[in-house]
Amino acid sequence: MKNITVIGGGTMGNGIAHVFAQYGYEVSLVDISSEVLDRALGTISKNLDRQVAKGTLTESDKAATLQRIHPMTDLREGAAGADLVVEAATEKVELKLKLFADLDQLAPAGAILATNTSSISITKIAAATKRPQQVIGMHFMNPVPVMKLVEVIRGYATSDAVCQTIMALSQKLGKTPVEVNDYPGFVANRILMPMINEAIYTLYEGVSGVQEIDTVMKLGMAHPMGPLQLADFIGLDVCLAILRVLHEGFGQPKYAPCPLLVNMVTAGKLGVKSGEGFYTYTPGSKELVVAERFR
Ligand code: NAD
Repeated sequence: MKNITVIGGGTMGNGIAHVFAQYGYEVSLVDISSEVLDRALGTISKNLDRQVAKGTLTESDKAATLQRIHPMTDLREGAAGADLVVEAATEKVELKLKLFADLDQLAPAGAILATNTSSISITKIAAATKRPQQVIGMHFMNPVPVMKLVEVIRGYATSDAVCQTIMALSQKLGKTPVEVNDYPGFVANRILMPMINEAIYTLYEGVSGVQEIDTVMKLGMAHPMGPLQLADFIGLDVCLAILRVLHEGFGQPKYAPCPLLVNMVTAGKLGVKSGEGFYTYTPGSKELVVAERFR
């Protein structure tokens, strides 16, 4: 494996491109927006600077890493020589089904097609191609250069050989891969999202306040971040979308999203990215301030 194509240069795509390039792979980074690609390269450069400052990379490693990343807006060009495609485009089912149908036509017959989806069925995405045995989930965590876990998700038809290749490749990237089967939420979000939802219910029912709930989980369970702060960081719209996948996929009321979460998303209070969720966020400030309505 030498040539990796990363689709999407957003939050996850730039991190995935960074890690592959750092470990010596040639990376074609494809996005529909050239501004996104410019921003992605800026972010990667800044994140590499941090590694240089820490002493884990040299200036020449940084330069070589950046040289291995080839930004482009043409999917055809990006997919042409790929050994592996890692799709990290926007989390929309129709978009991913179309992308995989196109990639199936454009990528070499032997190429593995992986997706970084947080919640969409790998089996469903694979069914949009004529090579479902070569389709797999490669679920990196945010921020990709820092987080060690890769959830490797086997679709219904994923072959043993493809799964072994992706497990071994993840290790070559300095990550710890964990193999899981394709059911709603996989493992990470199936456990995390109900916990976040329960924390929101605890607030909604007036059992306790924002800071108190987060403090209980931080000091009581040794979580580095409380569930409400983590929800803000992930994005409340993303949390809601994943809970809906769990609710629909299992048909069990225990996954029903808390009405407070639904209201907050409807009101545009999405957490860090919108400036307010359970806390308020001021650019440049690290202080954690509980949002006015929860005080
Ligand atoms: P993002 O919105 O930051 O980036 C998505 C990018 O995809 C955008 O730059 C957009 O221009 C691009 N895009 C859209 N359509 C495209 C197309 N047809 N071809 C090429 N590029 C296209 O999103 P993100 O947070 O990076 O999420 C990407 C994927 O990673 C999603 O499937 C998401 O579920 C998953 N994921 C996200 C996180 C997270 O914490 N953000 C964690 C794990 C997995």
